Amino acid sequence: MELTLECGVEQLPGVGAARAAHLERLGLRTVGDLLRCFPRAYEDRRRMANLSNAPPDLPVCICAMTAEAPRLTLIRKGLELVKLRVVDDSGAAWITFFNQSYTKNALRVGEQYVFYGKVEGPPGRRTMTNPVFEPVGRARFTGRIMPVYALTKGVSNHLLAGLTARCVEACAGQLPECLPDGLRQAYHLASAEYACRNIHFPADEEALALARRRLSFEELFCLSCGLTLLRRRREHQPGPVFAPAPPEEFEALLPFPLTGAQRRVMEDVAADTASGGLMNRLIQGDVGSGKTMAAAHGAWLAARSGFQTALMAPTELLAEQHVRSLAPLLAPAGVRVGLLTGSVKGKARKALYAALEAGELDLVVGTHALLSEGVAFHRLGLVVADEQHRFGVAQRAALAAKAGTSPHVLVMSATPIPRTLALIIYGDLEVSVMDQLPPGRVPVETFIIGADKRARLYGFIRKVVEQGRQVYLVCPAVDEAQEDDGLPPPGALLDPSGWQVPPAAGRKAAAPYAAQLQREIFPDLRVGLVHGRMKGADKDAVMSAFAAGELDLLVSTTVIEVGVDVPNAALMVVENAECFGLSQLHQLRGRVGRGRHQSYCVLVTGSRNPESRARLKTLAGTTDGFQIAQEDLKLRGPGDFFGSRQHGLPQLAMADLAGDSRLLAQAQQAAKELLEADPDLSWPKHRLLLERVRALFAENPEIFN
Ligand code: ADP
Ligand code: MG
Repeated sequence: MELTLECGVEQLPGVGAARAAHLERLGLRTVGDLLRCFPRAYEDRRRMANLSNAPPDLPVCICAMTAEAPRLTLIRKGLELVKLRVVDDSGAAWITFFNQSYTKNALRVGEQYVFYGKVEGPPGRRTMTNPVFEPVGRARFTGRIMPVYALTKGVSNHLLAGLTARCVEACAGQLPECLPDGLRQAYHLASAEYACRNIHFPADEEALALARRRLSFEELFCLSCGLTLLRRRREHQPGPVFAPAPPEEFEALLPFPLTGAQRRVMEDVAADTASGGLMNRLIQGDVGSGKTMAAAHGAWLAARSGFQTALMAPTELLAEQHVRSLAPLLAPAGVRVGLLTGSVKGKARKALYAALEAGELDLVVGTHALLSEGVAFHRLGLVVADEQHRFGVAQRAALAAKAGTSPHVLVMSATPIPRTLALIIYGDLEVSVMDQLPPGRVPVETFIIGADKRARLYGFIRKVVEQGRQVYLVCPAVDEAQEDDGLPPPGALLDPSGWQVPPAAGRKAAAPYAAQLQREIFPDLRVGLVHGRMKGADKDAVMSAFAAGELDLLVSTTVIEVGVDVPNAALMVVENAECFGLSQLHQLRGRVGRGRHQSYCVLVTGSRNPESRARLKTLAGTTDGFQIAQEDLKLRGPGDFFGSRQHGLPQLAMADLAGDSRLLAQAQQAAKELLEADPDLSWPKHRLLLERVRALFAENPEIFN
């Protein structure tokens, strides 16, 4: 039968219903899916060696004969061991397989196999552990660069590679070429067929590099095209009109004068919302730059023209804090503020829904609860998303959909995203930068200390508290049993050694730590505990107590990472600092130094790893969020930004945004040129490109509405 890209996987030889179901779990339904499922790494099976000259630490192909029947031993429940002796011209070795009991029958005495893996141990005691193998003579993958795919239970790499090889042979030539010829020539890009063949089964390193470049370019180019189309569509959409209002009137509501940067941002927002067009703006400002005031100003403008504002915060803590600070501020201007989080239940929730729908509230602050079914607005004019990188484009769109007509969108972020990434993440937004801190801030002093200096740290904490200040202590886990809360970034798959998830043991856990501090170290101080697994109301009670100065020490997990504002807090202690990303630590540090007191950040680490020490030193050396983010990106890869899909943008299979910034610039330039010539991709020769752009955004179709 003729194999085509649309054929289901069960039409491939050797794939029955069971295997098809396994493949489905990897999202592989058709031949086309298999071709678009790119390897996450490669094995160089061109390296041949024998049992005596095999280099240490480098996997190689060994051609050897099984000298005796494999023996299966059950070490204990859940640990099976198959052991066998192999020989070649140069010597002999023991091969051990753990939990692969099928090998006992798969390997026959006296037959020749190619084993791929590391040969370890001194001559005479050579061993191989869990090598992959194929019979000599029927070896399909020996002597070439072998793709390594992400796998799931029931799908081995050999199976997947075998299927992909078959699909590449039959169908690589059928792949549509979405990049126009002229563009491919101008940017020296390989063809779709060449890229497909060589990304799966590279002829050599150079072919792999060419394939990778083409596929990365394609993704970045299509992403740029899509975002440009999106932005253009928004530009032409009519938006609610907020009547201009004298800024002095807003400033008169505040206990302090605005900074120049705040004034500029507010002018941008006022101009956007008065224009008749739709605002779609990002406010990017480092922690503590006073972005909340811009949200307040927007809500004030909206309310004056009879529109409602929804302010979405990533956590209940933040939502509650916003209500606490904004409600009294805006009340004199007649702006009525409500709170909607998961903890607002029953009658209170019903009443809030009714008030919103009747237009009796002007500003509603909440979490994703704002997206719940019952929520309807009277006249929603503005959506503000605080710390948006935790909010998807999709959620924003869902909220917009509730309004019937599109509201203005204002996004606030303190995550200092490197510029190359910002272009991608916020490609469809206009950007205002709040590049000034309110006056009188004293820069936070940062120290790195070893875990063995704990006694001195406790002394320091006491001193800070005696001066009337408050202290945060952040831990990586809630309790001892908690597994790691963050998965390694996807880039880590390529280089497993580059990312070490620290063992759960030895990591400070907030709950027992708080109890210990209260009992043994600071019995006379008031110690509070807050973490993500507490009920909303309990969290709120603790946070309010801390904000009101009723607690001296607050032990927590990273729930306080984003946006929490207690100006009297002057010391941030981060336990197991090596467990956190640099940008995350910068965020945590931003929780102090918000008042007029000298503030401190102490990073406690037991790690002797020079790399993680160096990372922490970067943080101690600068308070520039952008520089830190850039460094973070270099060190950890873009996983922090792209590992989670919450931003709602397409998953990029190929492009590595940290490493490909030059390619990104080229792709953006190419997209710009192409769209200048053919603004809506309506030329026949761009049909396939338009399809590809649409497909890239297919999982978030609403983003195009
Ligand atoms: P972020 O940009 O991190 O969200 P916030 O909006 O939470 O910052 O503001 C940080 C702190 O600075 C708050 O306590 C806020 O009241 C205060 N603040 C904001 N603007 C000013 C200003 N112009 N002058 C003095 N303090 C300000
Ligand atoms: Mg904030």
